Amino acid sequence: MYKAIIIGTGPAGLTAAIYLARANMNPLVIEGPEPGGQLTTTTEVENFPGFPEGIMGPDLMANMRKQAERFGAEFRTGWVNEVDTSKRPFTLKVEGQGELQAETLIISTGASAKYLGIAGERENVGRGVSTCATCDGFFFRSKKIIVIGGGDSAMEEANFLTRFASEVVLVHRRPEMRASKIMQDRARGNAKISWALDRTPLEVVANGMGVTGLKVKNNETGEEEIIETNGVFVAIGHTPNTKFLNGQLDTDETGYLVVKPGTSETNIPGIFACGDVQDHKYRQAITAAGSGCMAALDCEKFIEGHAVHDWSQSV
Ligand code: NAP
Repeated sequence: MYKAIIIGTGPAGLTAAIYLARANMNPLVIEGPEPGGQLTTTTEVENFPGFPEGIMGPDLMANMRKQAERFGAEFRTGWVNEVDTSKRPFTLKVEGQGELQAETLIISTGASAKYLGIAGERENVGRGVSTCATCDGFFFRSKKIIVIGGGDSAMEEANFLTRFASEVVLVHRRPEMRASKIMQDRARGNAKISWALDRTPLEVVANGMGVTGLKVKNNETGEEEIIETNGVFVAIGHTPNTKFLNGQLDTDETGYLVVKPGTSETNIPGIFACGDVQDHKYRQAITAAGSGCMAALDCEKFIEGHAVHDWSQSV
């Protein structure tokens, strides 16, 4: 039985762990299949305050973990298969760990960028393939970049990347885009963006050092061509990692957890959410960390008045 279990070890979960551990809450942190979260798939992080020279994503996450451990947070690895939120203490079934119980839960399982699943894509993540313009755009100054997708994310990323790139080519698999009119208009009005519509991405072409192009099929003519580029930004959406909750917590229509505005409270008292699993708008390490701090403070306050276990008897 724990006072608090934190599920997920991205910046949100680890910040919550640091705060709860320092508040003597002895949190248990459950680390899933991608310890450290999305930041471990990026290279250098230059916009996290406090690191004027930048820091590698995996190093930043390793530091946060060490900081949480220093104050007594416990870590266990395992896939959370099931959560019973119907009564407190909440019960979790965790692969390899059996059943665990907690007075409160902090859900910080993040979101996963969707990938196309084409040849050359995964193996070149960090070498020219990226799913985060804010993180990696800066490395493509004066270069030609491809953005893939036809939704608001793709429009936003394409516009953002024109700050650095000499040219941005937007590749989309259909002639029409699903992005909102205002976002499309903004992109269409940007002279640095050119359009390769009705093109299905087939393969990220690389030479061992990095990306050199994207092979696409022209759906109208059936012809294949290679668009030369050093950077391929895949912007086809994100999936919040909420499957294990089995619909027990309120989500919006796109599957993100809903929290009471200005707090980390979900619809179930004692369960808090932070980071990308409840944020499809900002999605930054620093905003995730900030919301992790909020979740820890909300959780601490909650337990003061609502504990079901007599913690004064515990050592
Ligand atoms: P989205 O609306 O689902 O769009 C995904 C795009 O990727 C679609 O154009 C889709 O093509 C394409 N796609 C998906 N799978 C593909 C594949 N395997 N191969 C090639 N193309 C593929 O996702 P999103 O753009 O991330 O937006 C998600 C939500 O967040 C939306 O509600 C959006 O409005 C919102 N959002 C808002 C803003 C803003 O207002 N500032 C910014 C970003 C996101 P098809 O069209 O052919 O299906």
